[in-house]
Amino acid sequence: MTHRGLVAAVDVGGTAIKGILMDASHSAVARRDVPTPRQGPDAVFDCVQELVDRLLDETATGTSRLAGVGVAVPGIVDDHTGTAHVSANLGWREVLARSELANRFTAPVVLTQDVRAAGLAESHLGAARSADDALVVPVGTGIAGALVVDGRLVTGGGYAGELGHVVVDPSGEPCTCGSRGCLETIASARAIARRYGVRAGADASAREVAAAVAGGDRVAREVWSEATEALATVLATCVTVLGSEVIVLGGGLSGAGRLLLDPVRTGLEERLTFQRRPQVVAAALGELAGCLGAGLLAWEQVV
Ligand SMILES: [Zn+2]
Repeated sequence: MTHRGLVAAVDVGGTAIKGILMDASHSAVARRDVPTPRQGPDAVFDCVQELVDRLLDETATGTSRLAGVGVAVPGIVDDHTGTAHVSANLGWREVLARSELANRFTAPVVLTQDVRAAGLAESHLGAARSADDALVVPVGTGIAGALVVDGRLVTGGGYAGELGHVVVDPSGEPCTCGSRGCLETIASARAIARRYGVRAGADASAREVAAAVAGGDRVAREVWSEATEALATVLATCVTVLGSEVIVLGGGLSGAGRLLLDPVRTGLEERLTFQRRPQVVAAALGELAGCLGAGLLAWEQVV
């Protein structure tokens, strides 16, 4: 018999906290977003509790029907210990988030990282549904990756999947991580905007650079091509190591559609020889992917 309960799934971002209630068939039955409070971890936990209470109230769901709570946060997050080691977007270091949240709910709480949550959702419900081996790569302000290997997410104690900090150009620009020439310094939305601005002498967002590429702007094409080449280099390395069948590109930059997908496909084609040829596709679940993944994880814990 299908479980009659609901899980609450919450994705805590730097600017907004998104929450859903998810039923046993993995559909979102209610949704609410609130701004992320700036007063530190406790304020965020209170806000998560309030958000879940509101969702339960709105749907006239008693807390007794709440079967679990899944929470995704950004950064280096250890699912096993429930610790957020570093969440730069939230200003957190070594926060025992799961136990703090567990004090606020009677249902069991699971904690994970937002990128792995989105990866889990894409691999169960979205663009990588058919694959046991997949890479889910959000390309936005930063770049990260969820690695699905033999149908399981690789966590590495929270440290796996940091594709954005693979060094592509050892003598390149300094990265926020302390290294130089990381993928993120060339191919993130922020890097594309910055590199275009320096060369063209004009401010533009990554989205505007993408539009300029389509319009034939020479500098925009140069910056874009460097970004997609760097992305292809790192993805080819991942495919060589992991044998991925599907690469799902998500995040803000994937809004560029074929302008992003086509050169990455060509770049992989040029770099791979004997390796499995992955399909390169756009993410299917959009901005709710993190919530859906946190919800799936919460359902996995429900017995
Ligand atoms: Zn870096």
